[in-house]
Amino acid sequence: MKALGIEGTAWSLSVAVVDENDVIVMESDPYIPKEGGIHPREASQHHSERIGELIRRVFAKVNPEEIDVIAFSQGPGMGPCLRVVATVARVLALKLNKPLVGVNHCLAHVEVGRWKTGAKNPVTLYVSGGNSQVIARRGNRYRVFGETLDIGIGNALDKLARHMGLKHPGGPKIEQLAKDGRNYYELPYVVKGMDFSFSGLVTAAQRLYDSGVSKEDVAFSFQETAFAMLTEVTERALAYLDLDEVLLVGGVGANSRLQEMLRIMCEDRGAKFYAPPKYLMGDNGAMIAYTGLLMFKHGHVTPIEESYAKPDFRIESVEVNWQ
Ligand code: AMP
Ligand code: MG
Repeated sequence: MKALGIEGTAWSLSVAVVDENDVIVMESDPYIPKEGGIHPREASQHHSERIGELIRRVFAKVNPEEIDVIAFSQGPGMGPCLRVVATVARVLALKLNKPLVGVNHCLAHVEVGRWKTGAKNPVTLYVSGGNSQVIARRGNRYRVFGETLDIGIGNALDKLARHMGLKHPGGPKIEQLAKDGRNYYELPYVVKGMDFSFSGLVTAAQRLYDSGVSKEDVAFSFQETAFAMLTEVTERALAYLDLDEVLLVGGVGANSRLQEMLRIMCEDRGAKFYAPPKYLMGDNGAMIAYTGLLMFKHGHVTPIEESYAKPDFRIESVEVNWQ
């Protein structure tokens, strides 16, 4: 079976076709803000202008008749972007006369991670621009055991980077700078129960930079603090749920220091650490296609009248009836 998937919840616009074994084709055209962060209206305009071309490129490699199901990222995400994706998915489904599956974006990160790493029942740390969550499956739902109380860690990195004059996306630039950091400056470490928060940390790090501390030391201190918070909550979820696998997904998962901290924590506990290949870490069409295929094979279909954008779509609301 083959599924076509469209991702477009925020900056990433990506269309892919997968089967049960692998990604057959993926075409992507990210929105890159000229200045500042992601502007929802500009991002949605970008998506509506470029999506036709991406679909043409995919159909140049895969015959549309071979596709069994059309999957799309239904949420969570930016409303204007989600509406473009849902509209295009509906048009394709109607025109090709194929079933439609609306996919939860967070669920897709988890499932593509499991698919490509072999992790069975992991505690997943999902760290991206808009989201930061610690997720694990209990029975027939994925549950969020801890999450950010304000902004996502990627957004926090991007804000700090912007304040230091670096262009979007800031995460990879902070990672490079942090490698040359030598001095650790204490910053607010905010873990409340199983939740965490980053906006106070960003403000404190921005003040540290304004006080004359080098970009390298600010980046280093920020990463050490924020990633320790994420690692602590992930470890607590592992212990509490008595699980022995950790899966790291989302764009910030590409960060080598975050991977290192999690790997050390897992080794100490006798747990296994998994991370998918980088092209499947950040937002991508293949994760939507794969999860749509999985859901479709287990009886999930989204009727046209329920295919509207869901900006606040929660992972817990999806019934998980597959292994
Ligand atoms: P996503 O929303 O999952 O596609 O992830 C996008 C976010 O990942 C942005 O906030 C980026 O700054 C961040 N990001 C990408 N690469 C890295 C990296 N190597 N280290 C930290 N953050 C990163
Ligand atoms: Mg994402």
